[in-house]
Amino acid sequence: MAKMLVAGEWVDGASREHVPVLNPATGEVVDTVPQATPEDVDRAVAAAKASFPEWSRTDPEHRAEALRRGLERVRACQDEIADLLVREQGKPTHEALAELNHLLHGLAYYADLASKLRGSYVPLPSHLGTSFGLVVRRPLGVVAAIVPWNYPLTLMGTKVGPALIAGNTVVVKPASTTPLAATRVVGLLQEAGLPPGVLNVVTGPGRVVGEHLVAHPDVVRVAFTGETATGRRVMEVAGPAFKRVTLELGGSDPVIVCSDADLDQAVRGVLVGRYWNCGQSCLAAKRVYVFEDVYEPFLEKLLAGVSRYEPGEGWVRPERPKIRIGPLHTAQQRAEVLAQMQDALQRGARVAYGGRVPEGREQGHFLEPTVLVDVPHDSRVVQEEVFGPVLPVFRVRDMDEAIRLANDSPYGLGSSIWTSNVRWIHKAVQELEAGMTWVNQVHYGYDELPFGGTKQSGFGKEHGVEALDYYVELKSVVVGGLG
Ligand code: NAD
Repeated sequence: MAKMLVAGEWVDGASREHVPVLNPATGEVVDTVPQATPEDVDRAVAAAKASFPEWSRTDPEHRAEALRRGLERVRACQDEIADLLVREQGKPTHEALAELNHLLHGLAYYADLASKLRGSYVPLPSHLGTSFGLVVRRPLGVVAAIVPWNYPLTLMGTKVGPALIAGNTVVVKPASTTPLAATRVVGLLQEAGLPPGVLNVVTGPGRVVGEHLVAHPDVVRVAFTGETATGRRVMEVAGPAFKRVTLELGGSDPVIVCSDADLDQAVRGVLVGRYWNCGQSCLAAKRVYVFEDVYEPFLEKLLAGVSRYEPGEGWVRPERPKIRIGPLHTAQQRAEVLAQMQDALQRGARVAYGGRVPEGREQGHFLEPTVLVDVPHDSRVVQEEVFGPVLPVFRVRDMDEAIRLANDSPYGLGSSIWTSNVRWIHKAVQELEAGMTWVNQVHYGYDELPFGGTKQSGFGKEHGVEALDYYVELKSVVVGGLG
């Protein structure tokens, strides 16, 4: 029975109720976690609030040191944590280890920035007497970090790292289906030297626990990653209280493959981009637009690549040259992806590869990696976010058509182009409606670069030095009396 961390103590929660966490590959219970109540949220926020004055005044080098000690503890337990992540989330072991490494890299990046947060000196006009101005950065207070189930560790790190380093205290709310690895990491960070209450975790359903946290009057900042519809609800709740909110929401990233593209590299990028995490990534190659003169060879190489994936349990390594693809996270998730695919097929799309639920694996939410062609652009697999391993591939005449179709989406998270033509690159960077454009590169959220969407993919940035700006307020100071 796992517990929650509140004020430095492992607790069961006021209701004493526990709920099971299920393995998506087998349906077995991995562990149970407390079903938090609003009362538990109040307790966690109170702990975070009480620890804020001291933590915000702590020398930044000491904050960084506390975080670094925690990272070492997490690293020492990486196999155990990755295994927990595989069993609660469904992803293959090598992907779980990659996620854990991404978390460690991201937290180390922010630890290194702790002492580099600086303000500015501003010369002022003298009509009111000699004075100068300062702009200082101050931490905000209690931050709510609300995390989805697809990357439970890295998406917690993108919030906890900058929040703590800037001097805030945090209450983490993991997704109710993936609380285990995240809670273990929080526990290790705490044990390594974070003062009690600086980092807390509460577990339970989003509509109750998450929403109470967002609404709590002592929470000043909400860092949310999840579905667009949930983000809208978070805005409704946080908006009237003028809380600072960042929303990292859904995406439907287009990929443009031009005539001169290195097709082997482009196929590699699309395979990783679409089938990593069984297609359950916000930044993912979700629609591919291929110039017509290279469409056939691209598709041939793509199908050869897709055929290497073998659905199965994440902790079992397949025989080479097969590559493991795990199950979808829940039965409902798979049903949604199948319904989106069915809609496309009814409108005339064809399955070029996959499309079926593998036989003999009824307990897990498996689905064959799938490629669709001849897909009408108004079908659900194009206009909605597809959170699963289904990829529509389109033939386009030229760059204008590619950009027009790429932008024909309510989302604007990522995008990519495969070409060496500098004019096409320039056009794509200028005209693609997305928070990020990769050129000849796999969709990946680098810790060093600000990342966040436009349109219905949300607003605000995570990653990079820029993310720190969302965890501080700027205070202007005028210093007079200088004689
Ligand atoms: P979700 O919106 O269902 O849940 C996200 C988190 O919000 C969970 O912790 C959930 O418990 C909580 N929650 C649910 N209702 C809430 C409410 N009313 N108030 C407060 N919190 C609430 O999302 P999910 O299904 O866990 O994650 C998948 C989605 O996340 C996809 O749409 C994906 O594209 C998106 N995502 C976006 C990014 C990004 O950076 N843009 C990254 C990863 C995932």
